[in-house]
Amino acid sequence: MKIVLYPDPVLRRGTKAVDDTSPWKERAREMFDLMYETQGVGLAAPQVGISEAVLVLNPTGDKEKPEEELVLVNPRIVSRKGKEWGQEGCLSFPGIWGDVQRALKIVVHAIDLDGQPTEFVAEDFLARVIQHEMDHLNGVVFIDRFSPADKIRTRNQIEELEDRWRSQHASR
Ligand SMILES: [Zn+2]
Repeated sequence: MKIVLYPDPVLRRGTKAVDDTSPWKERAREMFDLMYETQGVGLAAPQVGISEAVLVLNPTGDKEKPEEELVLVNPRIVSRKGKEWGQEGCLSFPGIWGDVQRALKIVVHAIDLDGQPTEFVAEDFLARVIQHEMDHLNGVVFIDRFSPADKIRTRNQIEELEDRWRSQHASR
């Protein structure tokens, strides 16, 4: 398992719902390991090349705090309140940061790794991480939501990622 970088098409493909969570117990563990190794706070299945609706996160980014880990399978946001701009990065866009507007408070419905339904309220940074990772499940990436100023500011960096990806995937 490794992290897929923009503009790999799997990041735009969207995902299908998971019927059987059993293969995800091991995969979710691998995703957490990869996320900690790369200093992330969240990782969605398309970012490891799998088009299924699963995301993992730990808002502390600290592997010594496994009690903060969350695995969401087939998540849905059932309500949203407030809006706030805040800076985000993404493991699929190394070195790129920009401001994105997100809801401040959300209610999330999902199933866990045992297939049990769960519903909870998330606020502030946790809500931001969940919204960022849920976008990945729908083929949306954070640069899509950048302000026009941030789109211009990061244009060269994004083009560099595109050039690098093309040269690594050139057909010969
Ligand atoms: Zn991301």
